[in-house]
Amino acid sequence: MSLNDHWMQRDLAVLWHPCTQMKDHEQLPLVPIKRGEGVWLEDFDGKRYLDAVSSWWVNVFGHANPRINQRIKDQVDQLEHVILAGFSHAPVVELSERLVKLTPAGLDRVFYADNGSSCIEVALKMSFHYWLNVGQPAKKRFVTLSNSYHGETVAAMSVGDVALFTDTYKALLLDTLKVPSPDCFHRPAGMGWEEHSRAMFAHMEQCLAEHHREVAAVIVEPLIQGAGGMRMYHPIYLKLLREACDRYGVHLIHDEIAVGFGRTGTMFACEQAGIRPDFLCLSKALTGGYLPLAACLTTDTVYQAFYDDYSTLRAFLHSHSYTGNPLACAAALATLDIFEQDDVIEANKRLSARMASATAHLADHPHVAEVRQTGMALAVEMVQDKASKTAYPWQERRGLKVFQHALSRGALLRPLGSVVYFLPPYVITQDEIDFLAEVASEGIDIATRDAVSVAVPRGARTEFRDPG
Ligand SMILES: *Cc1c(COP(=O)(O)O)cnc(C)c1O
Repeated sequence: MSLNDHWMQRDLAVLWHPCTQMKDHEQLPLVPIKRGEGVWLEDFDGKRYLDAVSSWWVNVFGHANPRINQRIKDQVDQLEHVILAGFSHAPVVELSERLVKLTPAGLDRVFYADNGSSCIEVALKMSFHYWLNVGQPAKKRFVTLSNSYHGETVAAMSVGDVALFTDTYKALLLDTLKVPSPDCFHRPAGMGWEEHSRAMFAHMEQCLAEHHREVAAVIVEPLIQGAGGMRMYHPIYLKLLREACDRYGVHLIHDEIAVGFGRTGTMFACEQAGIRPDFLCLSKALTGGYLPLAACLTTDTVYQAFYDDYSTLRAFLHSHSYTGNPLACAAALATLDIFEQDDVIEANKRLSARMASATAHLADHPHVAEVRQTGMALAVEMVQDKASKTAYPWQERRGLKVFQHALSRGALLRPLGSVVYFLPPYVITQDEIDFLAEVASEGIDIATRDAVSVAVPRGARTEFRDPG
């Protein structure tokens, strides 16, 4: 038995994996990873895989990065963890100072959670609670965009819009207001991104005009709807949204959990619209992809609405056991050092240009509707019919074929439905980008070559975060 098989069998006997139909593993081998270095992962049999999805979008400076490793090693000998209520420590103070400095002016307070979904819960609760504290209890609904994703906990799911969840867990969800997304994949032929995003804003304007008295906040994934298939839109939408939120007295929550820290080509996506949200949610790349940590930044105005005598019961009594964990903060500090010392945002411009040129030919592929890109995120959307942009039935799991081909060639490409995307660590080289493009092209050829016959079960719905 190979070492891979050995670990796979032990794993499958006891684990239940995330976002996985476990029965798939009767056919699809699990890949046990022994070690990582830079953009490469290595399994127990010595095969290497280029991590094109940054291990679910978290890694930015490679696996086993020596600078981040060292910082964590130093921290672990000092202090591994301490309660953050009533106590503090140097890494969390330094990190908060740096996040306040790095983010748009006016985001002056940092509240920590320990993963993206709970960070969204913090933002939603804070916004609702703010309106309660200032005497506007009617403001308790949230406005969301279609095709959005904000995490897996129940309130975070409520503000998301993924059929798989809204269907299954409908009975548990909050009542939200859903507005059509500015997603430019659906723009009419001949229309540019800016014009389409601007036109789509009319729906948001109408929703806010009608409902603002009962709305606490609008929540968006700025510029890229990640889990919804790397769908993208123009920053003008965010600018218009900021103005409307101000006009109607509604909070703006930016979920930059996936796009923060350089992914869109600027450190934060909101910079491209020149705006400051009322809540900025950060996680994923915050620790360089090392440890779970999330930060919800907000304004002094919000903070002051909670600041009062204890007996008024206005405090925000939310907490997580590992809030502000020192090891995670140390990893985040090392990550921010690398951004600063290596002028990463500037260097990434060359990498994103290479991602564009290496994949440009795919736009002519008979089963590719679009190759789209925002900074260090590039997506290729496979379709059944190019002219009408008709999607493949999800049951055909075309993306899974790309995934399997890529694995055989030594790359971790994990399409979202029929959307093949690159979201690589920023330490990828130009040659490695070319390799990925080659593997993706081959995979797309294979996946779109034949008609696939599948039994289509009733109740068709979109897959999500899944290679299917
Ligand atoms: C991943 C993600 C989340 C959830 O973060 P977790 O750490 O997985 O809970 C929320 N919002 C967006 C936009 C994400 O991509």
